[in-house]
Amino acid sequence: GINLYVNRQYTDLTGYQLEDINAMTQEEFFNLFHPEDQTLISKHMNDVVNSKLGDVIEVEYRFKKANGEWMWCLSRDAIFDRNTKNKPTQSMGTFIDISKMKNLELHLEKMVEDRTAELMQKNVELEQFTYVASHDLQEPLRTVTSFTELLSNNYSQHFDDTGKKSIRFIIESTERMRRLIKGLLDFSRIGQNIEFTTIDCNRLLEAIQADLAVVIAKSNTNFDISELPQIKGNEVELRLLFQNLISNSIKFRKPNIANNIKITAKKNNGWTFAIQDNGIGIANNQQEKIFNIFQRLHSKSEYEGTGIGLAHCKKIVELHNGTIWVDSKLNEGSTFYFNIPNL
Ligand code: ADP
Repeated sequence: GINLYVNRQYTDLTGYQLEDINAMTQEEFFNLFHPEDQTLISKHMNDVVNSKLGDVIEVEYRFKKANGEWMWCLSRDAIFDRNTKNKPTQSMGTFIDISKMKNLELHLEKMVEDRTAELMQKNVELEQFTYVASHDLQEPLRTVTSFTELLSNNYSQHFDDTGKKSIRFIIESTERMRRLIKGLLDFSRIGQNIEFTTIDCNRLLEAIQADLAVVIAKSNTNFDISELPQIKGNEVELRLLFQNLISNSIKFRKPNIANNIKITAKKNNGWTFAIQDNGIGIANNQQEKIFNIFQRLHSKSEYEGTGIGLAHCKKIVELHNGTIWVDSKLNEGSTFYFNIPNL
């Protein structure tokens, strides 16, 4: 514990002369390190003592200057002499005052934390808004629907062809609006009262195939499903996730050929599932936007839908801390991947 030399820069930065630090007890000197960094400093000293000649060991810590201010330091220390018993006798170190950089770094970290909290709050508000808006829209829509049905059932003899056609359009539009609102409501409900259990994906897919039996038969769809794992997740949401992806693979099939859907799972940081079809495919530049809510690539006369399905899938996967993406070639088919990490 004897200090042999400090240069002028050391004295300028810390405010201590060589005599000042040599007059301190080891404990007094140790207390110049910030209480939160003292464990780190002990470890560092130990590392230096045990290091090989030529090793340079780095550490970042706060040091109390003679004027009482804390300074962030980046030190590099090395042993440069050992006695005949290989015990270290002298070490040498340099340090840089990194207070400005460190304070900026801490400020940035805090800013990111604050912004994240703010965004999360905004997200909650947005979800509440979606829920309230879609919930409250249902009531007037029900009124429009029932009065239109009343007109259609009891007064159609008073309408000419254009009038009847108009009523039909209103009925179709209100039905579509009902489905959109229902989709929005379901979307805003994801994540409420979420309960995670162990789910056998093989059983889950059997149940989905049973539910979709009629469309599967009508659409000439064949399944090739490999052995799937058990995962931790929310059963209702995961069922919806698989069902949405499979329903899309059925809906966006190519006409006049057998529709083949292959489902596999690969282990890596949890499980990555793949749902592959030989359907109409998706152009490269469209592949990202289909996960946005209400994004559709076709008119409703070509393919029925609301554009909520994949946004819903994305939200479910993110609820499980995973990611979802697609790999597709136009006219050749699509593979939707999603990863569910271990919980
Ligand atoms: P929806 O099915 O109600 O239109 P989605 O959010 O489920 O809405 O899908 C968004 C769009 O992505 C679809 O309109 C379609 O253009 C495209 N898409 C989704 N799945 C497939 C698929 N398996 N093959 C080809 N296109 C797909």
